[in-house]
Amino acid sequence: MSRTLLSVERIDARHGLLQAVREVSLTVVEGETLALVGANGAGKTTLLRTIAGAHRPAGGRIVFDGEDVTHVPAHRRVRIGIALVPEGRKLFPELTVEENLRVAAAAGRPGCWTVDAVLEAFPLLQPLRRKRAASLSGGEQQATAIGRALMTNPRLLLLDEVSLGLAPVAVEGVYRSLATLVETGTTIVLVEQDLGRALGVASRVVCMLEGRLVLEGRAGELSREQVTEAYFGLEAGAR
Ligand code: ATP
Repeated sequence: MSRTLLSVERIDARHGLLQAVREVSLTVVEGETLALVGANGAGKTTLLRTIAGAHRPAGGRIVFDGEDVTHVPAHRRVRIGIALVPEGRKLFPELTVEENLRVAAAAGRPGCWTVDAVLEAFPLLQPLRRKRAASLSGGEQQATAIGRALMTNPRLLLLDEVSLGLAPVAVEGVYRSLATLVETGTTIVLVEQDLGRALGVASRVVCMLEGRLVLEGRAGELSREQVTEAYFGLEAGAR
């Protein structure tokens, strides 16, 4: 029986008066890849940021490895192994690739991820090690952002729309590297707009609609049609 690493228990999250996440509960077991899908504004980013401690929930609990972390600040969640790759990457533009990686190492846990290990997992970064982040392409920046999160040696990696704004070839590269991470047993929660990609990489899929979880299942057992219906809030057969 796999071990539960993360439990999200009836989480409510707001932006002012707007309730972006409504009583969402889900669990993530060690070693699995969970894809979180849903239309624009469904609440995926808010939920991911709440798990990372970047957004304070209005209700509910987040339990990580048996510890209630609901009120633990984001920087301490990094120390216990929760790392977020935010939408838009948010690198230090004036620092080099290597410097961006090293800065993160100081914030995280000790472990096997080093600069060399990241460069091995993301070969496209090898010749760019001493280049400033601002000078990189979108795909190269995304690889650096994922590498930066890995440098904290996370037990849970949260990825927010890693393919957003990338050329198809760059998306391919990023997903190839993600597949390697999945194979090595990294536990991942991934927000992805592209259903095909989500179903391809994930072991389990949950779909959000207007702040609620409306569908959950193993990737191999859900049809694309079922996920599409949940995504757009269509009744089965109503299209
Ligand atoms: P997207 O794919 O567009 O990022 P999402 O599923 O990640 O969508 P969220 O970004 O979590 O959804 O947004 C959920 C709701 O909260 C939306 O109605 C959005 O407009 C609103 N929202 C998100 N961030 C803020 C904010 N900083 N201030 C006010 N409202 C916000």
